[in-house]
Amino acid sequence: MMNKQTFKALRISENTNEVFEREIIERKIDDLPEGDVLINIHYAALNYKDALSSTGNKGVTKNYPHTPGIDGSGVVIESKTPNFKEGDSVLVTSYDLGMNTDGAFAEYIRVPSEWVVPLPSGIDLKESMIIGTAGLTAGIGLYKMEKMGQNPDQGTIVVSGASGGVGSMAVGILSTAGYDVIASSGKEDSKDFLIGLGASEVVDREFINDDSSRPLIKPKWSGAIDTVGGNTLATLLKGCKSGGSVASCGLVSSPNLSTTVFPFIINGINLLGLDSANFPMIERQLVWEKLANDWRIQNFANVATLCTLEELDPFIDKMLKGLIKGRIVVEFET
Ligand code: NDP
Repeated sequence: MMNKQTFKALRISENTNEVFEREIIERKIDDLPEGDVLINIHYAALNYKDALSSTGNKGVTKNYPHTPGIDGSGVVIESKTPNFKEGDSVLVTSYDLGMNTDGAFAEYIRVPSEWVVPLPSGIDLKESMIIGTAGLTAGIGLYKMEKMGQNPDQGTIVVSGASGGVGSMAVGILSTAGYDVIASSGKEDSKDFLIGLGASEVVDREFINDDSSRPLIKPKWSGAIDTVGGNTLATLLKGCKSGGSVASCGLVSSPNLSTTVFPFIINGINLLGLDSANFPMIERQLVWEKLANDWRIQNFANVATLCTLEELDPFIDKMLKGLIKGRIVVEFET
């Protein structure tokens, strides 16, 4: 039963000079959006999209004031659907949460039940947020690659932007699943971190930034999960061994892709798109089960930096500068 009337939330507002301000305020439960499940958030996690929403990116969030947070896990407080009951442990990642629906950088969210995933057995609420959208995206990448026939015997997988959220989760998941992983990182001090997650080798970003005009280069990897876009993605395609898959999810370097058809028609490369926001619920639950069990990464604690809602602010700016290592997880008082 709900007896609390107000709750703490991060609120982004736009002032008259189109400057965006962040503050933590008390909000009324009654002011939350419509939805059939009210959730008390125990943990949330910071993603690149949240950093954009928190700084006024209208491609992510059209209207302010707004509470970002595309990832949250916690306990059901009220449910108008038989699919969930009071006390259930659940998680919500993406759909419209934190974009144009008030998100999980708050003690409570109210969402449609279609967005809610029961907490899979094998992980707790904190671990589910260490995984969060980043891990789900990496997991969808591996799920789609394996559907195309990718397997550990084919050879090495490259992960770009490896020290970031999606990248670090991809390194951990692939390594648990038995793949040899080369991690590409621009951070000189990320080597131990990435080896600890299971990478067999850590290379500089230049390793996957071919600046020749050749349509194909000597194949050096059998597949890739790319968070970077631009010339990195083009290089991953032209250097991939025959029949491999390259999964594209991000654009931290560039949204542009300049390539030829040769990787596709000579080497049969599969370019797989990853959209974690709208990934169908049945397959989403299947991937969550794998993330919690078969693909469960070894060193959860090493991937996460825990903070309170009050301590989140500097991580938002750091993320936009590409300086985050691993996952930033917000812990709420419960
Ligand atoms: P993070 O900020 O945690 O990680 C991004 C990493 O990319 C950085 O840590 C850095 O890693 C690397 N990087 C940063 N800038 C550059 C650059 N200019 N050139 C090359 N590499 C760079 O972000 P996330 O992991 O949360 O997200 C990564 C991308 O994936 C974003 O574009 C995000 O929008 C997208 N995304 C997409 C999803 C989907 O469903 N399609 C879901 C989640 C995220 P390093 O220093 O190790 O190289």
